[in-house]
Amino acid sequence: MEISREAQLERQIEKVKQDLAALGDLRPGSLSTQYNVCGSHGCRCKADPPQKHGPYYQVSFSRKGKSSSKFVKKEDLPTIRRQLKNYERMKELVDRWIDLATELSNLRLPKNQA
Ligand SMILES: [Zn+2]
Repeated sequence: MEISREAQLERQIEKVKQDLAALGDLRPGSLSTQYNVCGSHGCRCKADPPQKHGPYYQVSFSRKGKSSSKFVKKEDLPTIRRQLKNYERMKELVDRWIDLATELSNLRLPKNQA
């Protein structure tokens, strides 16, 4: 038996909801690595070639139009990377939900309505 497009969309939306519910901790932003130069004279960071300080890890993100960043400890990197990945996955899922929901909502409008 052929299932209706409506039932198919409902099923796909249900799957998106389940995937969202199963997501772990999430964190918006992107991770960057930095090497710095300090203010001390004769420091190795000013040698030739320079040996800059670092690496330092930083997560940059913006929320409600405001940009911020947070330094991250090396030992926290695996957790942070997982949180960032979960956030990206959440955005993909929500985006998919919006597409499916739009199609489904259109199907449920009374016929002959633009
Ligand atoms: Zn230095």
